[in-house]
Amino acid sequence: MNDILDLHTHTFASGHAYNTLYEMVHSASEKGLKLLGVTEHAPRIPGACHPFYFINFKVVPRILYNVRLLMGCELNIVSYDGSIDLEPRYQRELDFGIASIHEPCYDSGTVSQNTAAYLGAMKNPVVHIIGHPDDGRFPADYETLVCAAKEHHVLLEINNSSLSPGCHRKNSRENILSILEYCRRYQVSVVVDSDAHCEVDVGNHGRAFSILEEIDFPEELVVNHSLERAAAFIPALQKHLASGGAGND
Ligand SMILES: [Zn+2]
Ligand SMILES: [Zn+2]
Repeated sequence: MNDILDLHTHTFASGHAYNTLYEMVHSASEKGLKLLGVTEHAPRIPGACHPFYFINFKVVPRILYNVRLLMGCELNIVSYDGSIDLEPRYQRELDFGIASIHEPCYDSGTVSQNTAAYLGAMKNPVVHIIGHPDDGRFPADYETLVCAAKEHHVLLEINNSSLSPGCHRKNSRENILSILEYCRRYQVSVVVDSDAHCEVDVGNHGRAFSILEEIDFPEELVVNHSLERAAAFIPALQKHLASGGAGND
């Protein structure tokens, strides 16, 4: 499958990642990607950037090294109602948002509480992707999650880092398989992301794509092969494509 985008990456600004924005985009260009999403951690992650980081995205060119660039945020789901940790005045500045559950920002509840947390986040218009829902430390009802993603027109992420040896997330492979089977059944789209914290990992989707091939997951439900398919879920990308410029395909 043609894989031309990566929508979940972190730079130095996230506090525990190691490259600059320009280095990350350059890496994307070298690897032949047409679109990179940069999604710094929102403020509750220790060491993450101040919220002011998110209000000056207007200065960042949206095409660099012939790669389209979207400036987003990986928002923390912080409660069972799906609240997130960035105030609306900062949310407005984002090109797009990923909502994820992270250990320092969320106390895992029951399956129904964790599922409600994901569903609550999906209802927020700033959320376009649910990040690494495979993390078994926060067990969720995947059938309900997948159906809600369809209803709210949100992408579910297949996170390559979750499948890396040494990743602290739990039961990711088994949970990804479960998510994908429900996605196939209910015709729900996914995005494969690297969650790169270092430029070498930009576009690194190998483990995730191996699983997709293993189970013969339908290509039309994976947005990575088409900017237009991804844009159907991300209005800022629709605008970006409509504005023309380099990086078209
Ligand atoms: Zn994350
Ligand atoms: Zn991340």
